[in-house]
Amino acid sequence: MEYIFKSRHDEAHTLIDGFLERHKVRHGLYQGDLYGFLGADFVPGQMKTIKALRAILLDEQGGRCCYCMRRIAGLAPEERSLEHVIVNHPKGEDDYSQYLGKCQQLDAAEMISSAEFLTNQTTPPPYPHSVAYENMLMSCAGRCHLGVGTSFTCNNYRGHKFVYPLPLMSDGASEVKYLKNGFVYWIKETDTENPTVELLGLNYDVLKLIRRIWYKLSSMGLDAADCDRQLVVYEVLGDMLDEGTEDVGVQSLFLFANNDWYWSLLCQYDYFNDASKFEQ
Ligand SMILES: [Zn+2]
Repeated sequence: MEYIFKSRHDEAHTLIDGFLERHKVRHGLYQGDLYGFLGADFVPGQMKTIKALRAILLDEQGGRCCYCMRRIAGLAPEERSLEHVIVNHPKGEDDYSQYLGKCQQLDAAEMISSAEFLTNQTTPPPYPHSVAYENMLMSCAGRCHLGVGTSFTCNNYRGHKFVYPLPLMSDGASEVKYLKNGFVYWIKETDTENPTVELLGLNYDVLKLIRRIWYKLSSMGLDAADCDRQLVVYEVLGDMLDEGTEDVGVQSLFLFANNDWYWSLLCQYDYFNDASKFEQ
């Protein structure tokens, strides 16, 4: 995982200010579901506001998913998803405030809950959290299987559940550790029932295999774009059998040897093409 430092406040606020102004002129008052209205906002002759905002977010994340590190810049739009760190529709004040005190970046943002913003009807700042730049990240859509629209990881898999805002926490990313067998965990996790990395699906079988294969590729000095895939897969299989890995993981492994789609998915995770990223 990588720390995401939000530095483009002015540029993003200009876009959001423009949207909120147009919205208020059109509707008289700020209305509910501001994020829905933001999605439809545009100025004739210019890029849609949400598209411009997504471009800023994606750029500051180096084109990768904030959680799983999949390279999502350049993929089809349906492979991406805008993540609200504080969920877009909190169930109440407690559901909103549980995100506070967890990371300096969120605490410092001039931001209030959208419900409070709509009650107050004052010109921002503070910004309503549903359209606040500081509360937005870009995630992948979590699709890990060919032809299957289900989300197995990241924003869409998380849904409305509480997760620690790891990518925005100054030490969060460095506290996320990857093992050579592909397993990932957060060293500061205290919630044994609902660990953040599990709520984000980051130990989903296919993701674990992808990281495991990358460890093997990088430690053997192989180029994913030009290597004997069967050989790599059998090397990984050998390790798994030595460890007594369950069958489901072994079966998924062969997807990578036999199917170009899965190998191209693997290549989108080239962030892990570095053996030093794994715990020794
Ligand atoms: Zn992801």
